[in-house]
Amino acid sequence: MVASCSALPSRRRRTPSRRADSMLPGRTPGSWSFALSQERMIMNDHRRLGRELGIFDTDPLIGAGLPYWLPAGAAVRKAVEDYVHELERRNGYQHVNSPVLGKRELYERSGHWDHYADDMFPPMEVGGEEFVLRPSLCPHHALIYRARQRSHRDLPLRVAELGGMYRSELSGVLGGLTRVRGIQLNDGHVFCAPDQAAAEVSAALDLIEAAHAQLGIRTARYRLSLRGEGAKFVDDPAMWARSEAILREVLKERGRDHDEEPGEGAFYGPKIDIQIADPAGRESTLSTVQVDYFQPERFDLGYAGGGRPVMVHRSVVGGIERLVAHLIEVHGGAFPAWLAPVQAVVLPLSDSERPAAEDLLRRCLAAGLRAELAPADRGSLGARIRAHRLVPYQLVVGPREVASGLASVRLRDGGQAGEVPVEQLAARSRPFV
Ligand SMILES: [Zn+2]
Repeated sequence: MVASCSALPSRRRRTPSRRADSMLPGRTPGSWSFALSQERMIMNDHRRLGRELGIFDTDPLIGAGLPYWLPAGAAVRKAVEDYVHELERRNGYQHVNSPVLGKRELYERSGHWDHYADDMFPPMEVGGEEFVLRPSLCPHHALIYRARQRSHRDLPLRVAELGGMYRSELSGVLGGLTRVRGIQLNDGHVFCAPDQAAAEVSAALDLIEAAHAQLGIRTARYRLSLRGEGAKFVDDPAMWARSEAILREVLKERGRDHDEEPGEGAFYGPKIDIQIADPAGRESTLSTVQVDYFQPERFDLGYAGGGRPVMVHRSVVGGIERLVAHLIEVHGGAFPAWLAPVQAVVLPLSDSERPAAEDLLRRCLAAGLRAELAPADRGSLGARIRAHRLVPYQLVVGPREVASGLASVRLRDGGQAGEVPVEQLAARSRPFV
């Protein structure tokens, strides 16, 4: 199968790759480290932790592969979405929103119908017209580009959207947040002149590397995904050669070692895939950058002066579902403060400090923190701290804090941060400072 713009793995079951496995030395069955990694895999399985932490759940009445987000998950997701939106805004992207459906003719035009139909939901007929749940956002963005007269001065035009897309996965392979039928994709398309494409690919890799560092994600490897055999790939060798040359040039300039994998490209062009590995060493694609000459031609995109733009497709963090699954496993539920579902818990020593604790909670909320109160009737201070052991900041309110009006901050690793003003705590809990 051929991946589209989205950073999704192929449908066939992957065996752990040699490269991903080699990240985890000593993992032979029976060895001590193998037992540890197996234990870590079970402990950090995102499906188990996701339910325990109130991140997501599923219901057979909604359907397999269609998880819903619980409050803690919705909070993590919002934090990620806000971060990526801001990162893109600071780097010259304009955000748009487009519908999750399109007419069948749209996907015939884009090439999805010929090359990608196996992964699409069947059309729905309404009023004599056929509509399709979109398999990618690219065609909508191509139409957004085409909707206005463009000139060379408008380029590069960077368009981004966090939007829904759908994939007709078979029931047997669905599970958790990693194999889903509905995906919220962090997507973006840069429409640029041909001589700008290499710089835009490199700039997209800058964003991806910055985001991974911020999120605490380690790259397993860079993969150059190329055309394979068969009718699923657009048959235009010269076009493939041009786009591959750009990706190779950028990887070389950046000094990024990479593997090449024929057959893993998008149907319209090659991709740089940034691979991640789960605690068990299973590899998947999170982020991607692609060069596409095909869809600009199919949609007859142009700009004044007679040029045809190149489309650089890129996803900084991929699908939000897969990203959050990976973050749960990487952090074992102990998210960095800026991502934590609850960033601060207010713990009055006794009932007499409750009014001051409620006031502190209000100030935390007003300062932008995700905070909650754990009053004394929920158990001893020790028991309440244990119940909130994943919360980055634990604010104990005793008689001294009542008098000072400051929060005495205990960190989740047991360390003490002293008395910190709420605004300072809120500033520490933002991804951008
Ligand atoms: Zn795309």
